[in-house]
Amino acid sequence: MTRLALVTGGMGGIGTAICRQLADAGYQVATTYSRTGRQEQWLADATAAGYAFHAFECNVADYASCSAMAAALREKLGEVDILVNNAGITRDATFRKLSQPDWDAVMGTNLDSLFNVSKQFVDSMSERGWGRVINISSINGQKGQFGQTNYSAAKAGMHGFTMALAQEVARKGVTVNTISPGYIATEMVMAVPVEIRERIVGQIPVGRLGKPEEVASLIVWLASEMAGFVTGANIAINGGQHTG
Ligand code: NDP
Repeated sequence: MTRLALVTGGMGGIGTAICRQLADAGYQVATTYSRTGRQEQWLADATAAGYAFHAFECNVADYASCSAMAAALREKLGEVDILVNNAGITRDATFRKLSQPDWDAVMGTNLDSLFNVSKQFVDSMSERGWGRVINISSINGQKGQFGQTNYSAAKAGMHGFTMALAQEVARKGVTVNTISPGYIATEMVMAVPVEIRERIVGQIPVGRLGKPEEVASLIVWLASEMAGFVTGANIAINGGQHTG
């Protein structure tokens, strides 16, 4: 039977590549969107490229919204086998200027979301004896980043969640892993002024930004049978920018 993958925030720069590669690998793919308006064009582009994705509205920072999304998804498609917690935001400011709402927003979307979304699907994976949870963190959760106390804390917290849940569900055939991308050439990063981008690239030993497709291929591998012995890991994909 075809396995079902859910990618939260799958209409973004990295999410789109993840959805497409999972579909190319033979999975049925569902995604979520939170910003009204963008989904029609994204789905139309995907259809034109030969993909048949399912999209569900969901605010990952809100538990009730995640429960409603899970109910709608189950009714339409059945049980989720592979969950990619990809939705995320930044609200950058030095700690001195960081506002309380911007702290909460980043915690809600990047960290609370792991509880809100995983809670909907992990029990069922355990009961069925197979599952994959893949959490998209960041290099900045590993090394900290100036101007990102909120984002660095939330992204580091994601891996704490991964390590604990991995231990709880390992015997049930469910793996839980974090991946920590460095700078990836998404719209957001390409919008950074060229001189700042060049400075960033100067810090990357491989000498270039990563590609969304490179992140996606790591996820396809983690979702596969061959990755069944990898759990509780935090896999860096950063061109050598941060090691250890
Ligand atoms: P994008 O901004 O392109 O996409 C983020 C996605 O998250 C969007 O689809 C957005 O959906 C969704 N999202 C945001 N807020 C919510 C919410 N409250 N509820 C549901 N969905 C939400 O980002 P990227 O593709 O660049 O990043 C994807 C992940 O990778 C993020 O977790 C990011 O932190 C991480 N990352 C990115 C790096 C990079 O270089 N780009 C580097 C390291 C990590 P919508 O538009 O519908 O709101």
